[in-house]
Amino acid sequence: DSIANQIAAGEVVQRPASVVKELLENSVDAQAHHVQVIIRDAGKTLIQVIDDGLGMSETDARMCFERHATSKIRNSDDLFRIRTMGFRGEALASIAAVAQVELRSRRVGDELGTLLRIEGSEVKFQESIATLTGTNLLVKNLFFNVPARRNFLKANSVEMRHILDEFQRIALAHPEVSFSLYHNDVEIFNLYAGKLVRRIVDIFGKTYREQLAFCQEDTSYISVRGYIGKPEFARKTRGEQFFFVNERYIKHSYLHHAVISAFDGTIPEGSHPFYVLFIEIDPSHVDINIHPTKTEIKFDDERSVYAIIMAAVKKAVGVYNM
Ligand code: ADP
Ligand code: MG
Repeated sequence: DSIANQIAAGEVVQRPASVVKELLENSVDAQAHHVQVIIRDAGKTLIQVIDDGLGMSETDARMCFERHATSKIRNSDDLFRIRTMGFRGEALASIAAVAQVELRSRRVGDELGTLLRIEGSEVKFQESIATLTGTNLLVKNLFFNVPARRNFLKANSVEMRHILDEFQRIALAHPEVSFSLYHNDVEIFNLYAGKLVRRIVDIFGKTYREQLAFCQEDTSYISVRGYIGKPEFARKTRGEQFFFVNERYIKHSYLHHAVISAFDGTIPEGSHPFYVLFIEIDPSHVDINIHPTKTEIKFDDERSVYAIIMAAVKKAVGVYNM
């Protein structure tokens, strides 16, 4: 079974950033208000996520490392109503298959919490302990038992870039949650809970404050809301374009094109405007049967989404031309 877990883990856990993403999503799903991320050696030796969310009972703590032991979906109807980030119940099982994991968790109202150590899917230690409410997960020595994978990891700067990408996406999607990130004891981010515009400025810098236009469009099919950067603020390099569908980060080249078209030649050929756009849509119009680590998504009426995004961005960009 531990071999089966290791193989399955390859799907979910490709690099330290995958662990960061899964743990952050779990903290958000657990309704945390504050989430702290502590990283060492670009996540190769330590990834720790501490939240003040709902926490787990002793049984939950044991169960959460079992494959498909999700608390978030009860029947196939739920699949179409999923609003939590996770629903497959394979992240923690996969992570525990390829790392040394230490979990501390306590629910509000429980006197004691649980400490659990698990290595390569094997539970090594469990006891009741006094601990803060919420969940504190340490993931040590990722791929300690899969040398081929460990050796395949890239330089720390590259792995750290991936971690920052995942961190930023989740932090943008949840400005109501405060997040901090430390790397080798250096504070990289300390983001206070607040409005989206504040979150954007806290992540990307003060210069962004004057560069953003609010964007909103509501139809019966989707609603779009977010911020668009001024045309002068467009860059040759990509990396600051964010679409979220029902709070999940997605990549969508067709919709990116809708934004570019809306700028209607006011940005130089081949440059990309800054944007953070949230699309809300009834989940039944979206194909969610996609691979857990993929960020692509399909709408049942892509052309309408394209048209609505373009109209929304056009209106927002129009503000700059007045
Ligand atoms: P999924 O998120 O798809 O349900 P995971 O493997 O990520 O699967 O997590 C398994 C289960 O462990 C979750 O359904 C949840 O019940 C519990 N869990 C994981 N992380 C946390 C957390 N930070 N706080 C509370 N419960 C958690
Ligand atoms: Mg999860």
